[in-house]
Amino acid sequence: MPDARTRPAYSDPVDLETAELELTSSIYDGFSTAIMVKGKPRTVALCREYGDAVQLMALIERGRASTPKPAIPASDGSQRLSDHFTLAEMTVSAAAARKGLDNTPPPQIVDQLILTADRMEKVRELLGGHPIRITSGYRSPAVNKAVGGSATSAHRTGHAVDFTCPGFGTPAQVAAHLAKHLIGYDQLIEEFGEWVHVGFGPGQRMQKLTARKVAGKTKYTQGIKA
Ligand SMILES: [Zn+2]
Repeated sequence: MPDARTRPAYSDPVDLETAELELTSSIYDGFSTAIMVKGKPRTVALCREYGDAVQLMALIERGRASTPKPAIPASDGSQRLSDHFTLAEMTVSAAAARKGLDNTPPPQIVDQLILTADRMEKVRELLGGHPIRITSGYRSPAVNKAVGGSATSAHRTGHAVDFTCPGFGTPAQVAAHLAKHLIGYDQLIEEFGEWVHVGFGPGQRMQKLTARKVAGKTKYTQGIKA
């Protein structure tokens, strides 16, 4: 019995959904072509005829294209949407974690989150390149309901981000700085002195607001109050 522990690492199963494959001229007797994992000494298939190898590759590719993929597997929130923002950061939700709610965005929302992450790169740059702490980005309908978010919230479409930037200053200082320098957004709101909400769409109103709780209700006033 071969001891599994002595097998070389490259004999681990290849993930045919994602592995980068290539056709190579086979050095094996009687086989003209091998399908190999690119950059690894790993043969997935050997074919006697080159044409068969091409067809087999096409079948693998077709299988990949037709397999419906979840937007992102839950375990893979590390997917990078831009230089400094990951999918996990853009979909973070304390409420979802606490209540066990699914906050996985559908593919079209992921596309929007990539655009939003790109806009957040600009925000980060304006704030001197200090790390941004996102406290809420995308909210699924269930999560939005759980946090009491407005039904029309820009968080639902992946357009909005709540964040702090302690390296730059308080939320009020961050909001005041962005109000002066940021362009091309819909709403910039300093919320309760605790975080900054920035919504990049769908509108482009460049509204600047301050939110405060007054007798238990959220009241918005024009401008950023320092
Ligand atoms: Zn918000």
